[in-house]
Amino acid sequence: MKVLVIGANGQVGEKVVDKLRRSQHEPKAMVRKKGQMTKFERKEAEVVLADLEEDISHAFKDVEGVVFTAGSGGDTGKDKTELIDRMGAIKAIDEAVNHKVKRFIMVSAFGSDFDPSEWKEEMAHYYQAKAAADRYLMKTDLDYTILKPGRLTNDIGNDSIEIAERTKQRGGSIPRMDVATTIVKILDVHASFKKSYELLEGDTPIEQALASLEE
Ligand code: NAP
Repeated sequence: MKVLVIGANGQVGEKVVDKLRRSQHEPKAMVRKKGQMTKFERKEAEVVLADLEEDISHAFKDVEGVVFTAGSGGDTGKDKTELIDRMGAIKAIDEAVNHKVKRFIMVSAFGSDFDPSEWKEEMAHYYQAKAAADRYLMKTDLDYTILKPGRLTNDIGNDSIEIAERTKQRGGSIPRMDVATTIVKILDVHASFKKSYELLEGDTPIEQALASLEE
């Protein structure tokens, strides 16, 4: 499957591209700046230039799956959170529907479906944006999987996770490497279609954790 990675230049996104290259699937890296293309061209990965604030329809040509792992990041204001994390995600979902691309992995955030009274005030706009995009995706006919990772770290991945609609741990973190591995491996897990999962570091090997997801 050719998989469009939206946010490919990001910390999770680049790992997803690398792992897809070593899998039975094939990445198409979507980046927003010309200078970001070289890195992917050197790896002989297909790369497309598209900005979520503009038209992105051309990026979906020949694509069979989508991973949305873009985000406005912590250094920008609420306006960019709205533009990228909510409207950009919705734009990507609409394009997937228009191009009949059924498989869609959304990287959301742990806590985005909590009662808003549980959100820290400074994070509320971020969770609101993530939650709105997730709700929009859930109303489509796509074979989506929403992954809600805890706080992302750059620790070495340990290839073990806790994944569940409601994890036993009610918060925590996870290395980006393990999020990327989970994304690539869950692409083919039928039981995860039309489901949302919280994702944290844990004790279960990723393959085993995904194999135990119930239809
Ligand atoms: P990241 O390194 O900031 O990557 C985000 C990517 O999105 C960047 O490559 C960025 O491009 C791209 N992007 C931003 N605006 C764009 C636009 N207009 N058009 C196209 N691409 C655009 O983030 P990460 O650490 O990999 O996180 C991945 C995802 O996990 C995000 O959705 C984030 O919200 C979510 N998440 C994060 C945490 C956490 O603890 N940080 C926790 C749970 C979930 P540039 O490279 O050009 O800037």
